[in-house]
Amino acid sequence: MRIQVEGARCQAYGLCVEHAPAAFQLDDWGYATAADDGLVTAPDVPGVEKAIAECPAQAIRRIDSD
Ligand code: SF4
Repeated sequence: MRIQVEGARCQAYGLCVEHAPAAFQLDDWGYATAADDGLVTAPDVPGVEKAIAECPAQAIRRIDSD
């Protein structure tokens, strides 16, 4: 699974990091980017799916399902 955070949409709520700490990085202002070039390892998939569903800004997109 690969994801992307749309920087223009992210509102720095930080929920994504709570659900999947290994899959996201926050900058000094709390804005998220996808860690590891967006590649999500199997153990992080459930947390990332939760982050996608719950991101208040709908800023996280799945860009492939592998
Ligand atoms: S939950 Fe969404 S809005 Fe909040 S930091 Fe993560 S990507 Fe940005």
